Amino acid sequence: MEHFEGIILKKINYKESSEIIYLYTREGMKSVLIHGSNKMKSPYLSFSKVLNVVSLHTSGKDLKTLRDGDVLKNYRNISNDLEKYTYVTLILEKIYFFSTHSHDHEKLYNFIIKIFDIVEGNVEYIPYLNMIELKLLYLLGVNPLFAHCVSCVKTENLTFSVKAGGMCCEEHLIGKSTISPLGTLAMQQLYYYDLQKEEEMNINDLYLKEIRIVLDKYYEYHLNFKGNSRKMLVGLIGY
Ligand SMILES: [Zn+2]
Repeated sequence: MEHFEGIILKKINYKESSEIIYLYTREGMKSVLIHGSNKMKSPYLSFSKVLNVVSLHTSGKDLKTLRDGDVLKNYRNISNDLEKYTYVTLILEKIYFFSTHSHDHEKLYNFIIKIFDIVEGNVEYIPYLNMIELKLLYLLGVNPLFAHCVSCVKTENLTFSVKAGGMCCEEHLIGKSTISPLGTLAMQQLYYYDLQKEEEMNINDLYLKEIRIVLDKYYEYHLNFKGNSRKMLVGLIGY
């Protein structure tokens, strides 16, 4: 028997009435077979709901099979809000995509749960989800550099460049920047944001849009990631 806690990122059907769920845990990704979870009266129905945080007891070596478990959180407000849910789905997709990279899974797991708890009860949820995306860049070792120009020590008159991976002075700027100085400042704030301090966060929609576009480009350019849920999100949030 094995016991662990995790958040359900996705599920696939398996044989006639069973499912395999993919969970992100403190040790990284785990997959678990749930017998009969597709049946209407299955007691395991809530163990195959994406976004649920569950505590599971499993048996089996290669293919873990669910024996018993508890639902710890179900993030009902997120699930009931299509826009929020779709944005969260983009984050789950990213976590899944990079779950095989060896980074600090415990740190990321704890961070995700903290952020989702905030998102569950917060209307202005987008900046918090962007924090996960920025934190993940850091964990994957491709974090943007904000402190000074990526190519020299200059700290003034800097512009953000996706291709350069951070701030650039006039001399070292590669291509055109797609984010305004104030948008860059807001993104930097999110990157360094301290959850413990619970500072008030107020980011204008214009800058949220700029940050979204930069994050998309950054993930595509540096990590070759393009999310499937991104297109659906455009239809909901308008960019
Ligand atoms: Zn420079």
